[in-house]
Amino acid sequence: MDLQLYDTYTRSQRPFVPIHPGEVGLYTCGPTVYDYAHIGNLRTYLFEDGLKRVLKWNGYRVHHVMNITDVGHLVSDADTGDDKMEEGVRRTGKTAWEIAALYTEAFRTDLKALNIEEPEIWCRATDHISEQIAFVADLEAKGFTYRTSDGIYFDTSKLADYGYLGRLDTAGQEAGIRVELGEKRHPTDFALWKFSPANERRQMEWDSPWGRGFPGWHIECSAMAQKYLGELFDIHCGGEDHIKVHHTNEIAQTEARCGTRLANYWLHGYFLQLNQAKMAKSAGGFLRVQTLLDQGYDPLAYRYLCLTAHYRTQLNFTWDALDAAVTACERLRLATFKLGVAGDPDPGLVQRFTAEINDDLNFPRALALTWEVLKSELPDALKKGTLLKFDEALGLGLATWTPREEDVPAEVRALAEARWAAKKAKDFAAADRLRGDIQAAGWEVEDQSGGFKLKPGR
Ligand code: AMP
Ligand code: ZN
Repeated sequence: MDLQLYDTYTRSQRPFVPIHPGEVGLYTCGPTVYDYAHIGNLRTYLFEDGLKRVLKWNGYRVHHVMNITDVGHLVSDADTGDDKMEEGVRRTGKTAWEIAALYTEAFRTDLKALNIEEPEIWCRATDHISEQIAFVADLEAKGFTYRTSDGIYFDTSKLADYGYLGRLDTAGQEAGIRVELGEKRHPTDFALWKFSPANERRQMEWDSPWGRGFPGWHIECSAMAQKYLGELFDIHCGGEDHIKVHHTNEIAQTEARCGTRLANYWLHGYFLQLNQAKMAKSAGGFLRVQTLLDQGYDPLAYRYLCLTAHYRTQLNFTWDALDAAVTACERLRLATFKLGVAGDPDPGLVQRFTAEINDDLNFPRALALTWEVLKSELPDALKKGTLLKFDEALGLGLATWTPREEDVPAEVRALAEARWAAKKAKDFAAADRLRGDIQAAGWEVEDQSGGFKLKPGR
């Protein structure tokens, strides 16, 4: 089966056809670095990593660009409230630049822990102020902007199909408006450039043709995506919350400037929820990769958990679900390890696996096939070769995993301790019986001077 992806723009699953044969331009909205990423954010990056792996599986060369939002993302998507970075300044007492560097590094550490490949190009909003100013100037020249006392705004009424991505009912919104519009002409109009408040020096502000200030969040992604990938590229991704505002506005700006919808396919990862509610940075007490590590979890078990749910369904996080993922992931890794030397993969099974992942990244079904292979009667080398091939898409690190001391289950360790005690007491019959019990549990015990060592049995 050829690769098919669900495109939010058309609300349909359709064959993936790249603009340039063999190549894919991919832009993924990156983190707002005023705080750590929570595991909800990381679910979206895991989905995007899965997409990238599937594209490569299909032989594409992927040009992946990810931004770092280090300015301009306001507390409210309605262009009110302060910049989230300034909020971080108040919370931590550090400078905005220090915060950006700190949380960018923390984000990269999280990516590594989850086996997520970094993009080819990282781009910081603050390194691209001139590109954003040029973009706004073009929109102004084409008559899409107006000025208020706090900034330059995009007039969404000037675009006939504004809001198509989010299927927004703009006429209905205008008619039903109860909130204060302020100086905005329409509820959906959004800031392109915000003026710094008078008499207040901000840590992040720049001169512009309109006055000192800082760029809006949406213009950042349109400007950088265009700079690195062109006016129309293949795939743009983000979380589902971006459909109605951020991506709708990225498209509006690009349509106004270049007449394209920026990307041919718009893909969105659905949210991770906690207690059936959205996990959000501002809620406080959110779960991070570090929280998982502190509680003794392997972050790759979280990756496994995410693979069990399709990216277009919400996933409710529970510790029980993570525990189940730990058990499954450990069993998979240990069983694969024990298969010994890998041979070539089985072409028929690889074809079946391809059909699953090419069906809009159906990793839950791909994972079910993985277990089917593991439990099959195939020869070990063929089985292992097939599983390692699958793992190029799953990303669970099966090829490099080796059991550690702490991977030995407590009950096996207890059997080994009992055997050691029996040996010391010269009760060799009991020691042999216990060795048999240890082997039956899938482990080998080796005597060493003054103790014993456990390793997975073959
Ligand atoms: P932010 O750092 O807030 O700009 O968000 C980074 C990415 O995480 C964006 O693509 C968001 O859409 C996504 N995101 C935010 N909250 C969640 C969540 N609870 N589950 C999954 N993705 C999320
Ligand atoms: Zn973005």
